[in-house]
Amino acid sequence: RSNAEKFEFQAEVSRLMDILINSLYSNKDIFLRELISNASDALDKIRFLSLTDKEVLGEGDDAKLEIQIKLDKEKKILSIRDRGVGMTKEDLIKNLGTIAKSGTSAFVEKMQTGGDLNLIGQFGVGFYSVYLVADYVEVISKHNDDKQYVWESKADGAFAISEDTYNEPLGRGTEIRLHLREEAGEYLEESKLKELVKKYSEFINFPIYLWATKEVDVEVPADEDDSSDDEEKQSTEGEEKEDEDTDKEEDEDKPKTKTVKETTYEWERLNDVKAIWLRSPKEVTEEEYTKFYHSLAKDFGDEKPMAWSHFNAEGDVEFKAVLFVPPKAPADLYESYYNTNKSNLKLYVRRVFISDEFDELLPKYLSFLLGLVDSDTLPLNVSREMLQQHGSLKTIKKKLIRKALDMIRKLAEEDPDEIHDKEKKEVEESKENDEKRGQYAKFWNEFGKSIKLGIIEDAANRNRLAKLLRFETTTSDGKLTSLDQYISRMKSGQKDIFYITGSSKEQLEKSPFLERLKKKNLEVIFFTDPVDEYLMQYLMDYEDKKFQNVSKEGLKLGKDSKDKEIKESFKELTKWWKEALVSDNVDDVKISNRLADTPCVVVTSKYGWSANMERIMQSQTL
Ligand code: ADP
Ligand code: MG
Repeated sequence: RSNAEKFEFQAEVSRLMDILINSLYSNKDIFLRELISNASDALDKIRFLSLTDKEVLGEGDDAKLEIQIKLDKEKKILSIRDRGVGMTKEDLIKNLGTIAKSGTSAFVEKMQTGGDLNLIGQFGVGFYSVYLVADYVEVISKHNDDKQYVWESKADGAFAISEDTYNEPLGRGTEIRLHLREEAGEYLEESKLKELVKKYSEFINFPIYLWATKEVDVEVPADEDDSSDDEEKQSTEGEEKEDEDTDKEEDEDKPKTKTVKETTYEWERLNDVKAIWLRSPKEVTEEEYTKFYHSLAKDFGDEKPMAWSHFNAEGDVEFKAVLFVPPKAPADLYESYYNTNKSNLKLYVRRVFISDEFDELLPKYLSFLLGLVDSDTLPLNVSREMLQQHGSLKTIKKKLIRKALDMIRKLAEEDPDEIHDKEKKEVEESKENDEKRGQYAKFWNEFGKSIKLGIIEDAANRNRLAKLLRFETTTSDGKLTSLDQYISRMKSGQKDIFYITGSSKEQLEKSPFLERLKKKNLEVIFFTDPVDEYLMQYLMDYEDKKFQNVSKEGLKLGKDSKDKEIKESFKELTKWWKEALVSDNVDDVKISNRLADTPCVVVTSKYGWSANMERIMQSQTL
């Protein structure tokens, strides 16, 4: 095209496209859901803008917020069109080629080490999946603030942009035309497209239409000469009326009209947009929740979410919500924990999508949850900034936390492996219980750190969170145990909850600090995660029991009758030792009853850092 401007793809984008084009990945279907998801995002954006400015929607067809799919079998073109926000020339250049997102190189890297292409949407580069099935793609777009433009590329390292003076005006929105490759012919089959929309785009909240063939019965005059061409028999309304007139006059012996099949086209609706969260939880099946989770997570694998909670909050602040615990923690969940604030909750106000970057809905430590909140109480036609300050958000957040913690607690309660030994509750043998066996340990391995961070950050829910803590102990035999279980096993006269911190269980098991406690059969908790040191600065007590670090001063293991005697007989030695040692580094030298075989041990003072904390701090500053 003469007016086309040429651009080169940013290097990482170019590499990504090479990978996609040459991919042997068998599931090429994913391109369609990526395009539909982009169309839906664009529709969400224009609907959001229209809340404060009705004009942006335009009139007539332009105001219809929908997605249309069309096929051209002869030219082998599949097109997906939306009446979303559209893209200006600038947007086309930036979004589709020149600006690499942070996910681009991450995705390229994943692909080179055998990652799953299915997750492309999570990396923010879903658009490029069109090159799995097409060798030439046109993006025609009209934004309210600009003229209509065409972006086109044959994925040969470059793309071109030209003002669109030849296609029909779109009004507003975007049409993506895929010139399908020879081997992608299946995507010209209506049945295939219907199947894909059902499978992957069920939860898109805008109507999706397919320009579909339809066989209709047409009444035509029963001509005596049946061999005549069908085309000619298709009568216009006027002719039919004429027929009726003649009918009345004619004899009734033979039928005057007959029915023939004719193929026409019409927009066929492919999805049902009743949002899942508006339905009653009782009506929604497990399979539907799983699929809904996959669509939220942009992960279409076959793993089920670990748990979900779907509820309807009533009262001063009304909202509906669905929360999910993912099957796995993302690899980078704790990597930049204190620098980023990435919420995975979508906020809707009265069915209208507002934002998926609303950090005010959940505290940081619960950011691993996925889900959605739809509020009836929040105002619709105000800016995002004003919404962020709305008083109801606090109430919503509070309730969401409660529900999230309930959901996690239930994971433990329903897990047959978690049933308290002493209660000796019989666990019914059933398939359901079998599936739940070990689910809390799985949760703990993936997200345990989040619970610990919660104890540090969320004073109001500290006790609830402490109930969810799991750890190994000197007597737990490699199994995870809880504080409640620990307390139920406490020896008579034992007042404190004993724990020890270190870098590994193996190292701690050899610790001289445990000698006497082991002899006395006292259980000691192992805390081996660096975060545990911080955790224990916030977790002072639980159910009226104090926590005692056994490597610190102040350990009381009950009085021994010989204590006084021993102290007396070693008086001189302690005195000598004190004089020899006490300095800036050593506070005191004492006779202790915490050892059994080891002659002496260095203990940290009650309010000082434990040796383990010193180790952690040192490794951080080095
Ligand atoms: P993501 O959707 O995760 O941002 P994509 O690669 O799917 O990543 O899309 C890239 C960008 O291109 C989108 O963020 C959006 O700005 C733009 N875009 C893609 N499709 C459309 C569309 N149908 N309408 C408007 N903008 C679009
Ligand atoms: Mg996308």
